[in-house]
Amino acid sequence: MSGLPAASVEELSEQVRGPVFRPGRKGYDEERSGFQTNFRHRPAVIVGATGAADVCAAVAFAGTHGLPVAVQLTGHGLAVAAQGEGLLVSTRRMTGVEIDPQARTARIEAGVRWEQAIAQAARHGLAPLNGSAPHVGAVGYTLGGGTGLLARQYGYAADHVRGIDVVLADGTLRHVTADSDPDLFWALRGGRDNFGIATSMEVGLFPITRLYGGGLFFAAESVPEVLSAYLAWTETVPEELTSSVSLLLHPDLPVIPEPLRGRYVAHVRIAYTGDTASGERLVAPLRAIAPRLIDSVREMPYTQSGSIYNDPVFPHAYYGNNILLGAMDAAVLVKTVLDVAGPEAPAVCVIDLRHLGGALSRPPAVAGAVGNRDAEYMLRVLTPLAATDIDIARPVHRRLFEALRPWTTGRTLNFIYADEHMPDQTSFVYAPDDLRRLVELKKVYDPTNMFRYNHNIPPAD
Ligand SMILES: Cc1cc2nc3c(=O)[nH]c(=O)nc-3n(C[C@H](O)[C@H](O)[C@H](O)COP(=O)(O)OP(=O)(O)OC[C@H]3O[C@@H](n4cnc5c(N)ncnc54)[C@H](O)[C@@H]3O)c2cc1C
Repeated sequence: MSGLPAASVEELSEQVRGPVFRPGRKGYDEERSGFQTNFRHRPAVIVGATGAADVCAAVAFAGTHGLPVAVQLTGHGLAVAAQGEGLLVSTRRMTGVEIDPQARTARIEAGVRWEQAIAQAARHGLAPLNGSAPHVGAVGYTLGGGTGLLARQYGYAADHVRGIDVVLADGTLRHVTADSDPDLFWALRGGRDNFGIATSMEVGLFPITRLYGGGLFFAAESVPEVLSAYLAWTETVPEELTSSVSLLLHPDLPVIPEPLRGRYVAHVRIAYTGDTASGERLVAPLRAIAPRLIDSVREMPYTQSGSIYNDPVFPHAYYGNNILLGAMDAAVLVKTVLDVAGPEAPAVCVIDLRHLGGALSRPPAVAGAVGNRDAEYMLRVLTPLAATDIDIARPVHRRLFEALRPWTTGRTLNFIYADEHMPDQTSFVYAPDDLRRLVELKKVYDPTNMFRYNHNIPPAD
């Protein structure tokens, strides 16, 4: 078993409250499985942590045995998979959420998915800065930046973290704030899984209970016009409105609503915190483009905000990446996207173009490592691997990103998914000075690069 003696694993089992899983034993495959099914961790041992003490014991054990350490909740954002070696900390049992309605904060444990925090915050008339999919993990999302439904109004989720409990490479638990450890606090918010395992975090909540939001679906023949009109329209909207447009071919399956089944469509997604009347006025130019196959933009409680994107909830195999774009000619963008990754492309491509700017472009109250704040749009491309082989998808994605290189300002960490042939991505994610600072801090906090199943920031020489 990858050089890890069974007796050592027995010893680990005695040190933690949660279960310990070894390859080939009951529960191992279930515990390592996640949302991404094409790449999966296959570690030498898994600890199903029940709390911070288990994470400390697991990391200390890994230190003693020279094992690299991975952490996983949902597997939505798996970056680099353990291949037969290493220790995986599974956080799915750490599901505590505590709301402080007076302070407008939530303390969220590492195993919490956004849906749980959204529901608990809503009881107090508050909302967190979650993303499009409520089943994504709150801690991984936030430490990776977190570009949420209300991003243009409030900025990155990472900008609203007040404190982080993190287990460092030496197995100690530290409560990290801007005052206690300014460098580490800066690095964790954007450096994600390079500096330790966050066991919980305290985040700001916002007085949002409702939205005017939903989706507008347009048929294939309107797609070029929708994309052009959407780009022009984004220049006119206030920061209280965050939106995106997706281009995708829906599978011809009974679970897909009939008007979309088997069709290539443009799906514009809207989240507006202003009142319904002004929301209707803002959305009117989009509704005027063409008849909608489905129009679900409406007044809704914030607890239903997951319906805006309606992201798939079932595990599947996918391959994808993103680029951040500065100011560019909209006509060039539309033509490039449709020519390279449109419905005629050799690979099935789901395009997601998100409008950034607003609070995302302003420096936060407490600086963090999230970079590329000058971007105006994020362009994602994702290929479901049930539809297209990864070897066919790779060159299509590469051609798209290459064609848009003159306008590309970087990449966002949260949407860089696993690929064993992926070159280093960190130079795209962080500003050069920030990356140098991260490399120096990695040497301080993780000199042996124990936390390396990630888009890796190597320790300075
Ligand atoms: C359907 C879907 C919709 C999404 N929508 C958005 C969106 O709107 N905005 C956005 O910004 N992102 C979005 N994402 C990306 C998502 O935020 C990232 O994939 C995120 O990393 C997922 O975190 P997780 O814990 O759920 O996944 P996991 O795969 O379990 O973890 C993802 C990464 O975070 C690290 N990590 C997890 N837990 C910890 C921890 N406790 N301490 C330190 N590191 C940790 C892991 O090492 C791993 O590299 C979406 C992803 C999917 C699949």
